[in-house]
Amino acid sequence: RTVYVNGEYLPETEAKVSIFDRGFLMADAVYEVTSVLDGKLIDFEGHAVRLKRSLDELDMAEPCTKEELLDIHRKLVELNGIDEGLVYLQVSRGSDGDRDFVFPSADTPPTLVLFTQNKPGLADNPAAKKGAKIISIEDIRWGRRDIKTVQLLYPSIGKMMAKKAGCDDAWLVEDGFVTEGTSNNAYFVKAGKIVTRPLSNNILHGITRKAVMRLAKEAQMEVEERLFTIDEAKAADEAFTTSASAFVMPVVEIDGVALGDGTPGPIARRLREIYIDEARKTAI
Ligand code: PLP
Repeated sequence: RTVYVNGEYLPETEAKVSIFDRGFLMADAVYEVTSVLDGKLIDFEGHAVRLKRSLDELDMAEPCTKEELLDIHRKLVELNGIDEGLVYLQVSRGSDGDRDFVFPSADTPPTLVLFTQNKPGLADNPAAKKGAKIISIEDIRWGRRDIKTVQLLYPSIGKMMAKKAGCDDAWLVEDGFVTEGTSNNAYFVKAGKIVTRPLSNNILHGITRKAVMRLAKEAQMEVEERLFTIDEAKAADEAFTTSASAFVMPVVEIDGVALGDGTPGPIARRLREIYIDEARKTAI
């Protein structure tokens, strides 16, 4: 693989970042994951805007312009021959060559790293035909989940807990209400109405969430943004998650309770199809 580090395109084995980088020592870094279909980027604009917001919220400098970022994404997709897959981007605050809780001076250059992941079958994903089995766990993450930081230890632990339970993923519950999935936004459908938690600092403002909510409304589906409990979701007709890397993923089981007939529901399947169609049409 050819990867990108601070202005250079290099074989992955030659790419280097300082051991003092605050991304490495303190998770002082933000990231984005953009999907590639037909060799083109899905919703690059949305990811670029959210990246800028994450950087602003943490007082981190922009590593380069949006146009330069687009060029880097495209060049990596081309160099690595990606037809279906992902582009991972990370910006960290860099370092001034030592470990310190205090931020380095404002002129310290941020560290910009990008790499691709080849994922043939991203759109025609067998996992989406089966649907995901979910467990619920307590949400013990920090209070600024709207900033897309690389503090992914708890989401990682959550996925491992799901795996140990023979499931695919975990939904996080705080004060009795579902926040989101470990790496996706969460929805259930009851009597034709799609319910999802409203945006706040408690969840990531998903790029896919925004697109799917718009597409659902355009398709005359009813959408309601409100807090919901895991028990409501368990009693739902169907459920699903959204993320840039898995699009719309049907959920067929929550905490051992099968939803509907235990297969992907019609609304989740339709939204997945509509989303992927539109993503292909608008990819750049
Ligand atoms: N929520 C969390 C915690 C995530 O990590 C992600 C994606 O990584 C999402 C939601 C979905 O966001 P997006 O649709 O922008 O990928």
